[in-house]
Amino acid sequence: MKFFLIILIFLSGCASTTLNTDSDVSRRQLLILPEFMANSMSVEAYKEALKIAEKNNKLNTDKNLLNRVRNISYKLIDKAIFFRDDANEWKWEINVEDNEEVNAYCMPGGKIMVFSGLVEKTNATDDELAAVIGHEIVHALREHGRERMSTALIQQVGIIGFAAYIANKGTRVSTDAAVQAVALGTTLFFALPNSREQEREADKMGLELMALAGYNPMAAVSLWRKMNELSEFNMPEFLSTHPSNENRIKDLTEHAKKINHLYEENKKEIKTFHPTDDISAQAQGGKGHRSDGSEAQLP
Ligand SMILES: [Zn+2]
Repeated sequence: MKFFLIILIFLSGCASTTLNTDSDVSRRQLLILPEFMANSMSVEAYKEALKIAEKNNKLNTDKNLLNRVRNISYKLIDKAIFFRDDANEWKWEINVEDNEEVNAYCMPGGKIMVFSGLVEKTNATDDELAAVIGHEIVHALREHGRERMSTALIQQVGIIGFAAYIANKGTRVSTDAAVQAVALGTTLFFALPNSREQEREADKMGLELMALAGYNPMAAVSLWRKMNELSEFNMPEFLSTHPSNENRIKDLTEHAKKINHLYEENKKEIKTFHPTDDISAQAQGGKGHRSDGSEAQLP
């Protein structure tokens, strides 16, 4: 069992989930929980969130807002393949929940939810919305949720129990364990905050992603300032997990300036399209820069 586990850690512990680009994010990640498990937990948790919102008549009620959020998200998703090749095979979903909390998330595997309160209370522009959604998409591309789940699962279930779960995959034991895992996944994803390092990565790559999609990266700075202003009255949910101090704003400003050329190169190539269009058919063009010098012309 020990030997098996060591191999598992060795196999999963040596990789970065995304390619190295202008953002220079190349941290190697310890991902003990298999990707399919993190994704299946997320699918279940997302389904549950949609079910509850729908039951309360709070799902996608404002069609204009939904179209706007989907339009922006699709442009960002189109460029996600720049960071990892399999992103265009993900089953992306984008929904809007009527909720006065200032919040948004993207679960592992590309399950996006934007709360109406985020748009209404910050009076966000398209560029500012792209900043939040881009940041959240990067958390998913970098599999930060899976990292957090891996750590917590080991702590909670215990390393031996988890190895037994993997070893017994396909048996009745694992069916019970899978049910528990889904419940655990829901709790873990929502309860555990991202680490500071994960936030820094999402900030940097999020700026690059939005610039590639033709959105002005400086909008991330203006949005975070708006969030700070809101917190004088009532702490936005988003800020409880994303502390917006002057250091963060300073880093965002510096990095936004650094990758502004990507925005300049890509902003003119943006086309508008209908949100119900096939994502894969959205040929937008654009340029990016990978550190290994590989082809960076985007589809
Ligand atoms: Zn974040």
